[in-house]
Amino acid sequence: MAHTSNLQKNWYSILGASPSDDLHELKQKYQRLVLMFHPDKQKPGLSEEEADQRLRRFLEVDQAWKVLGNQESRRTFDLQLRADELKQSWPVDACVVSGDMSWDSEGRTYSYGCRCGGDFVLTEEEMEDGAVVCCDTCSLSIQVKSVT
Ligand SMILES: [Zn+2]
Repeated sequence: MAHTSNLQKNWYSILGASPSDDLHELKQKYQRLVLMFHPDKQKPGLSEEEADQRLRRFLEVDQAWKVLGNQESRRTFDLQLRADELKQSWPVDACVVSGDMSWDSEGRTYSYGCRCGGDFVLTEEEMEDGAVVCCDTCSLSIQVKSVT
């Protein structure tokens, strides 16, 4: 099977779950899906294609639980997921000229207000042309253009 993402599959979405779900919630979602797709639980008269699809879903759900139901492999997957999301969020939402950022001489940081109400904060050392900053509240990011 060919997958374009770095991640083989997003096990959370396969379970209809989210990364913030705890183990108990994950297990409930897993059990519900397993019952729904288990080959032994299918109604007679399913077309071969449909039965095949359900079997594939069952195997996916089973695999998802093997990854997420285990603390160790879940943590590994969470890290992959975060790295993947970070890469996807690279396309920056806006470019900001460094002169438009406000300079805080006490904290020695530059900041710029995000539309969510949060802030893009950059330390003096991080300030350079092309630096990408993530909002401290939401997932937007900006790229800094320093004018020389
Ligand atoms: Zn924001």
